[in-house]
Amino acid sequence: MEKTLVIIKPGAIQRGFIGEVIHRFERKGLQLCGIKMMQLTDEILVEHYAHLVQRPFFKRIKDSMMITPVIVCCWKGIDAVHIVHEMAGKTNGREASIGTIRGDFSVSVQENIIHTSDTVENAKAELDRFFNEKEIFDFDQHNINFLYANDEI
Ligand code: ADP
Repeated sequence: MEKTLVIIKPGAIQRGFIGEVIHRFERKGLQLCGIKMMQLTDEILVEHYAHLVQRPFFKRIKDSMMITPVIVCCWKGIDAVHIVHEMAGKTNGREASIGTIRGDFSVSVQENIIHTSDTVENAKAELDRFFNEKEIFDFDQHNINFLYANDEI
């Protein structure tokens, strides 16, 4: 099964959406394998958003991600990377489809509630960036036979 990273951003924390975001992934049938609150730093954000470092708005993004601590979560499931990324919706909350997390709770490009990994490869690198191996729990999910058919697992 795949694992993927979700970061609940400071804006979502200020607006009281921690529970709402977690609830959506739980309802979908994904398994929470790791969760913690952490204060992001300049260093980790330069690494995490390396593809944006040269953009004029980079400092703004970085400041916005450090205003409060964030919640980082690891979610597990078959095709979890794709599912979680689709559930987040497009980057711009104004363009994200209604029913997605950004489509329902964001009207901004920058203040868009959560980060989600976009590929399986990036999910692995991002989980390693934010969690150590003792913080990821591979426990049995007892409702697994109600989530998947035998031949899917
Ligand atoms: P995503 O988070 O959808 O994977 P990106 O990796 O392109 O999108 O951007 C990372 C984050 O940087 C976005 O979630 C958003 O918060 C911010 N961002 C991206 N583009 C802009 C922009 N043009 N103006 C302000 N913030 C932006």
